[in-house]
Amino acid sequence: MIVEIVATGTELLLGQIINTNAPFLSEKLNELGFDVLYHSTVGDNRVRMTQVFNNALERSDIIITSGGLGPTQGDITKEVTANLLNRPLFLHEESVAHMTDLLAKRNRSMTESNLRQAMIPKGALVLKNENGTAPGVIVEHNNKIIIHLPGPPHELKSMFEQAVVPYLKSHFNSQGAIVSRVLHTYGIGESSLEEKIKGFILSQSNPTIALLARQGEIIVRLTAKGASKNEAQKLIDKLEKQLRQNIADYIWGLDNDTLEANIGEILTKKQLTVALAESCTGGLVTSRITDISGSSDYLIGSIVCYTNRIKTDFVDVTPQIITELGAVSQETACLMAAGIRKKFAASIGLGITGIAGPTGATPTKPVGTVFIAIDGPAGIQCQHHTFNGQRTDIKYRISQAALHMLRQYTLSL
Ligand code: ATP
Repeated sequence: MIVEIVATGTELLLGQIINTNAPFLSEKLNELGFDVLYHSTVGDNRVRMTQVFNNALERSDIIITSGGLGPTQGDITKEVTANLLNRPLFLHEESVAHMTDLLAKRNRSMTESNLRQAMIPKGALVLKNENGTAPGVIVEHNNKIIIHLPGPPHELKSMFEQAVVPYLKSHFNSQGAIVSRVLHTYGIGESSLEEKIKGFILSQSNPTIALLARQGEIIVRLTAKGASKNEAQKLIDKLEKQLRQNIADYIWGLDNDTLEANIGEILTKKQLTVALAESCTGGLVTSRITDISGSSDYLIGSIVCYTNRIKTDFVDVTPQIITELGAVSQETACLMAAGIRKKFAASIGLGITGIAGPTGATPTKPVGTVFIAIDGPAGIQCQHHTFNGQRTDIKYRISQAALHMLRQYTLSL
């Protein structure tokens, strides 16, 4: 069954709100095995909305819309469907009663505009809105199905789970299942990664393979369709095993794994502690480590050593090193790592110094230059990177590199 998701609302086209409803619906429908082949977005305009619904009816079996069920003149979704399918709107008394009740609970009274929300295309199935006033509708027409859901995400989500999923399950035989798995990689560029698994990419059909560049990492997404979830998972397991023969060294996690949580597990297991001296990242690495609940078991603390004075006063970087080699240098990073380790009595010290830009570059040290050092039981190590991008991108990439370095270091202990 081909599904098209149509998000309605001029706000979406103006970029004032981000469309989170379409990804939610896509993910859920894919889990149920439906083929979501199109996403469309259209503003609150009758002519254009009619065109979009017409297109969708031609190429898809099921159309699910979000938004435009509210009480204002801009909320026209059901009217457009009613006109298009020649199904006059009528007042749905049960929805009026539900609305009256809900508005009374909120100390508000029913207005003429509210009644618009209870106007339903003839012959449609009405979906009660447990979290709001606007009912959803399902219209079956010439073997096609149009489902209108409200725009507010919490209303849409619960209506989808409580009413649409049971409806789809009862109307269609099992659609099988589509399962995706994400392999997180680090330390390899997109093109080199593609080169290593090119054979699989060229011959892919089911599962499919997609390489996607995300902030600070490349992910490999495997998607399989099977008669059941179990069958789809087995297809993915097999492909993942084959891919690992070529790229195992670069894969650090799966699906929703985060680097911060992964490092936390390693540090806890190995009973290690860490302390940080951060300059250009301004505490970002520390902040990411503390995103994990229980991180106080292994994070001793950190200092943001932003100025030279703080570097010399608090983590033993000598003024001479700064003058001769620079605040952004391997030597400074190493002294920061060793200094913070000693000062905070941690198993591992991490020092970061670099130029996040856009100012501050020198002829030999461009924007994005960073030195990351780790001092610990396996001795001192330092990495030198040059990252591209805007200031915030560079800071994030540095934090990603620092966390990966910390992960590798602790794994080796
Ligand atoms: P209401 O009864 O609240 O007017 P509605 O069904 O008419 O609901 P809209 O008026 O289109 O929905 O949108 C209401 C609000 O829902 C928007 O201001 C926005 O906050 C949110 N919203 C709408 N569409 C989306 C979307 N695709 N993704 C995320 N949020 C959305």
